[in-house]
Amino acid sequence: MTSVPVPASVATASAAQLDDADPLAGFRGRFLDPAGEHVVAYLDGNSLGRPLAETPARLAEFIGTEWGERLIRSWDERWMDEPTALGDRLGEVVLGAGPGQTVVADSTSVLLYKLLRAALDGRPGRDEIVVDRDNFPTDRFLVEGIAAERGARIRWIQADPATGVRPEDVAAVVGPRTAVVLLSHVAYRSGFLADAPAITALVHDAGALVLWDLCHSAGSVPVALDAWGVDLAVGCTYKYLNGGPGAPAFGYVRAGLQQRLQQPIWGWMGAHQPFGMSPDYRPAEDVRRFLTGTPPILAMQPLKHMVELIAEAGMDAVREKSVLLTERAIVLADELLAPLGVELASPRDPAERGSHITVNHPRFREVTAALWERGVIPDFRAPHGLRIGLSPLSTSFAELQAGMEAVRDALLEVQ
Ligand SMILES: *Cc1c(COP(=O)(O)O)cnc(C)c1O
Repeated sequence: MTSVPVPASVATASAAQLDDADPLAGFRGRFLDPAGEHVVAYLDGNSLGRPLAETPARLAEFIGTEWGERLIRSWDERWMDEPTALGDRLGEVVLGAGPGQTVVADSTSVLLYKLLRAALDGRPGRDEIVVDRDNFPTDRFLVEGIAAERGARIRWIQADPATGVRPEDVAAVVGPRTAVVLLSHVAYRSGFLADAPAITALVHDAGALVLWDLCHSAGSVPVALDAWGVDLAVGCTYKYLNGGPGAPAFGYVRAGLQQRLQQPIWGWMGAHQPFGMSPDYRPAEDVRRFLTGTPPILAMQPLKHMVELIAEAGMDAVREKSVLLTERAIVLADELLAPLGVELASPRDPAERGSHITVNHPRFREVTAALWERGVIPDFRAPHGLRIGLSPLSTSFAELQAGMEAVRDALLEVQ
């Protein structure tokens, strides 16, 4: 992977100096209440992004006009196209995907199920699914469920938990029986950033399909699905895409593959003519065939606004700030927490890191509870990981500093 330059000032400058020099600092004010009235340090934007300041008014406007005045006519006027129109815009701004390949629908878990099943069935004669043991529970459970349902075999990758799945780990398990490989682009625990282009290429060499889970990378790390030749991808929109609790997921299916894949949950919205009321199911010709039921239009609205905010900032600038934030978090962890027995459980090389880090200590469960009481909000991941998520557009260096000092203080209190 290409190396990522980090200026020395990230270790030597004060938080205030880093904020002054931050070209994206102005974006922080575009979020609701980032100034510390209710929250001292929000370090969990990778689980639930903050709402945008404009979201309440824009939601009210949506309810008043598109829903309240136009009523059912809005389905004809715009809502029917929303899953693909928003998918296209997300593809353009965040995913490196040309139009006609991305839909917004369902939850991540349901879309993962649909695309995994479609991929397995789309490789007849192959009966193995590859996934890693440290992947997010829903990803592993879905693979287990589908394997049981279809009589498929699981090939588990056991990668180094402090980092993640590398190309050689994948090369060791793929072969003529592999149908599909499911991996996370950024590991939810360690924050390890997988080499997606290299892994995609070697999965293809084995004749299999790849499905990337982008939950922790969409909106924080540049993604180039078309350029990397990715087959399938799924991701959340309520993490770095600030879509709000339970906002729908997105799914990408490479154009050349769409006609050859059939997903398992047949519903009228994925049918050739939803309002044809035909006696038989025939899937839509295009990416709409991966839809099932009525799209969650209301829940897509905040996501629409965030995608435009990211377009304004630019994904490359978002990544640059993300690297500085995680680098600074590691500097602070070394300085403030390591003397108290805390260990870093994330890569030190920024080229191998997404936008969060995890640190381990046996007392972190109780420390997290104490921190939440004080408005310092990281999250806890069993057995003893404290995850520090740094959402580049809404997090300042001062907020990170206050948060890390609070972690140190809380740890001192329980020791
Ligand atoms: C957050 C996350 C999910 C969440 O799936 P939902 O269906 O939205 O609950 C799935 N996979 C990964 C890797 C995640 O980080």
